Amino acid sequence: MPVGQRLCETGRWSYRATDNVRFLKLSERRVMTNVILLGPPGAGKGTQAKTLADRTGLTHVASGDLFRAALREGTELGMLAKSYMDRGELVPDEVVIRMILERIQQPDCASGVIFDGFPRTQEQARALEVALADHNARIDAVLFLAVPQDVLLRRIAGRQTCRTCGAIFNIYYFPSHRPGICDACGGKLYQRSDDSIETAQHRLDVYFAQTMPLIEYYQRQGILHEIDGQREIALVTEAMLKALSPYLAPAQP
Ligand code: AMP
Repeated sequence: MPVGQRLCETGRWSYRATDNVRFLKLSERRVMTNVILLGPPGAGKGTQAKTLADRTGLTHVASGDLFRAALREGTELGMLAKSYMDRGELVPDEVVIRMILERIQQPDCASGVIFDGFPRTQEQARALEVALADHNARIDAVLFLAVPQDVLLRRIAGRQTCRTCGAIFNIYYFPSHRPGICDACGGKLYQRSDDSIETAQHRLDVYFAQTMPLIEYYQRQGILHEIDGQREIALVTEAMLKALSPYLAPAQP
């Protein structure tokens, strides 16, 4: 069996008594691959995660997107998260952990997840490990997108996101063909409220203080792959897919 591939009991994984979902029998086993995209705000995690999910069939789970969706729906979680996001602060660990662990119980996560923006603290990393271990699963690979600090601010401040499909553009590096209009679906582009220069700088400071230690944490586990995130988007994608290839090989009979 290729490195990093294990059998996971998808039955226990996807079943919740309250869910109106198909119950997969415990005897039904599948290969599961879990990947974390690690990197500072503006490194390109969201852009790459979407493409990687399409190319690998893994499910993209982005903590920031979940908070923004909760906010659009006007839930308590969304309102709580907004107060932290607007200041560029991290939402408290217990709130993020609960939200992510609930999300990965959904059936679409049964054969593997690309985590984007989570974990961001050691506490979150440990909680994820424990939850996955409960299901005979683990983190197989961590892809660390390395981008120098001076490039990051421009990337964040120039970022535009489609309201309809979530596609990401950048007015400096990757502009849409028609200003303010999404190339993919024709939806309207907007700038995230936490992408102003001041908030972006604070988000970077928070990243260096709280999330950077995770690089060493995963390095020690031997699962960290550093990817040069400065290159063209397509080249970065290829480098990531290459790093992931040992974990994505088809299961042996
Ligand atoms: P992102 O879209 O990943 O840049 O996240 C936007 C904002 O959501 C962050 O600046 C935080 O306020 C919050 N957030 C997202 N993920 C996490 C996390 N794992 N832990 C704490 N806060 C988070």
